[in-house]
Amino acid sequence: MPKVEDTEENFALCLNEQCGKCPSFPGVEGEALYCARGRSAGKVQRRQCICPDCPIWIKYGQGRTFYCDQ
Ligand code: SF4
Ligand code: SF4
Repeated sequence: MPKVEDTEENFALCLNEQCGKCPSFPGVEGEALYCARGRSAGKVQRRQCICPDCPIWIKYGQGRTFYCDQ
């Protein structure tokens, strides 16, 4: 599978449309795009992961969820 590109466009999409609206979002300033940048520095309360609805998740054929927490 191709690796998710760490671009400002992907970051903004994730923060504004996906992770930023997720009930599990840890909300650490400056963070998002966990699938490219790795897990959060904060503590994650696992409620739901909405990654499978994300256009990036679909485009890159991602298989996992909870990237913010692992
Ligand atoms: S990686 Fe998944 S669980 Fe974490 S904030 Fe993003 S959508 Fe939510
Ligand atoms: S797959 Fe998940 S972590 Fe990656 S951009 Fe989409 S919502 Fe964010």
